[in-house]
Amino acid sequence: MRVTMIGTGYVGLVSGACFADFGHVVTCVDKDASKIDKLKAGEIPIFEPGLDQLVEKNVKEERLFFTTDPTDAIKTADAVFIAVGTPSRRGDGHADLSYVYGAAEEIAGLMDGYTVVVNKSTVPVGTGDEVEAIIKQTNPEADFAVVSNPEFLREGAAIKDFKVPDRVVVGTDDERAKEVMTELYRPLYLNETPILFTNRRTSELIKYAANAFLAVKITFINEIADLCEKVGANVQEVSRGIGLDNRIGKKFLNAGPGYGGSCFPKDTLALSKTANDVGAPVRIVDTVVEVNANRKKAMATKIIDAMGGDVSGKTIGILGLAFKPNTDDMRDAPSLDIIPALQEAGAKVRAYDPESMEEASHSLKDVMFCDGPYHALEGADAMVIITEWDQFRALDMERAKSILNGNVVVDLRNIYTKADMTKRGFDYTSVGRP
Ligand code: NAD
Repeated sequence: MRVTMIGTGYVGLVSGACFADFGHVVTCVDKDASKIDKLKAGEIPIFEPGLDQLVEKNVKEERLFFTTDPTDAIKTADAVFIAVGTPSRRGDGHADLSYVYGAAEEIAGLMDGYTVVVNKSTVPVGTGDEVEAIIKQTNPEADFAVVSNPEFLREGAAIKDFKVPDRVVVGTDDERAKEVMTELYRPLYLNETPILFTNRRTSELIKYAANAFLAVKITFINEIADLCEKVGANVQEVSRGIGLDNRIGKKFLNAGPGYGGSCFPKDTLALSKTANDVGAPVRIVDTVVEVNANRKKAMATKIIDAMGGDVSGKTIGILGLAFKPNTDDMRDAPSLDIIPALQEAGAKVRAYDPESMEEASHSLKDVMFCDGPYHALEGADAMVIITEWDQFRALDMERAKSILNGNVVVDLRNIYTKADMTKRGFDYTSVGRP
C-alpha cells in the first residue's frame, strides 16, 4: 500500500518508518524543511532508540521517502495519515487543532481517487467530523473516508510499541476504509494484536480516556507518596503491594516529580475542557490536572527544604532534564518547573542530560549545561536526580562525594536507597520513603 504521513515528528516518523518496515511504501512529509533536509542526509532529528537503523534500512530499500512537498505523495496514496501536533491552545487549554485542519485542507486539494484520511494525532471527540466537513467543502468531488486511528506509542520505546502494540484502535463506519486499515496493519495479525474497530467518536475518546487513566494512576501514587512521608510508610512497597493485584497492575505506579511530556499534560487538560463544555465533567481528571501542576512546583520546595531551607548562592547539580529517560523531548518536563523555581530562590544550576540539553537550552536560562554527570556535580552543594536515565542508576558515589561541595542528594525517582546512601555519608531524600 502507499502511505503518506503528514507531519514527521515523533509519531509521524516512527509510524512512517514502521509502516515502511512492514513493506508499505511510505512518504513522510513535513513543513519543517530543516527536519526533512536532515532526514534526507541520513540524520534523525529526534532521539528515539533504534530509529536511525530502521530509517536507514527502509530508505536504502526504497520504501521510505521524505519531502516537504506533499503533492505527489497525496495524489498517489491509499492512506494519508495526519500526524501533526495538537498542543494546548494558548489561553484556554483546549487542543489547538489548527495544524490538523490545515493538513485536512491541504490533503483535500490534492487527493486523487478513493483516499483514506487517517487521523493519528490526538484530537477531541468530533474532530473527525470537522476534518470530513473541511475536505468536503474544499473538494466537493473528493472520494474519501476519514478514520480515527489514535497512536499509543511511548517515546523511548516507540518502535516496539508500534510493532508490538497492546492493541490498534480504528474508528470508522466506512467498509472500504476498514479494508484499507486492515491491509495496513496486516503484519500485526501474525502476533495476534487485537484490532478494535469502533465508530470514529469512540476511537477519539479512547485515546483521551487511556491517557487520562494513566495520568490518574501516576497522580494517585504521587499523593500516596506524600501520605507515606507523613506516616512513615514506604511508597515503593505500597506500589508493589497494590500492583501485584492483577486488577490494579504494576505499571504507572512509580512515585516521582509529577507527569510531564508531550501528551499527558495537554491531553488531560483537553479532556477536562471537552467534558466541562458538554456538561459531563470528569472531575477526577480536573483534580489530577491541578494536583500534578502543584506537584511539580512542590518538588522545588522539597529540594530547598532538603538543603536546609535556603539555597541562595548555593549550587545545585541536576541529573536528568527530559520528562523521562530515552527521549530528548522536553515538552512539559518537570525540570522546566523545578529549575526556574530553584533559580528564583537564588540557586545556581549546573545540569546534565544525555540527550535533551540542546532542546532544554531553548527553555532554560542561566543553566550551566555540563559534559557528564560528574561534571554537573563539580562543586555543587547538592545532587538532584530528576530523570532516571540508566547511566544515573549506578553512579560512582565515592567519586560523586569527592567532587560535590555538600552531601545532600535529592532523588526524585527513588533509584537509590536511604540505607545505602546514608552509609556512604550522604544526606539523602527521596519520594515517599522513610
Ligand atoms: P511533533 O511536534 O513531534 O511533530 C509534528 C510535526 O508536524 C512537526 O514536525 C511539524 O512541523 C509537522 N507539521 C505540522 N503541520 C504540518 C503540515 N500541514 N504539513 C506537514 N507537516 C506539518 O508531534 P508528535 O509528538 O509527533 O505528536 C503528533 C500527534 O501525535 C499529537 O497529536 C500527539 O498528541 C500525538 N501523540 C504523540 C505521542 C508522543 O509520544 N509524542 C504519542 C501518541 C500520540
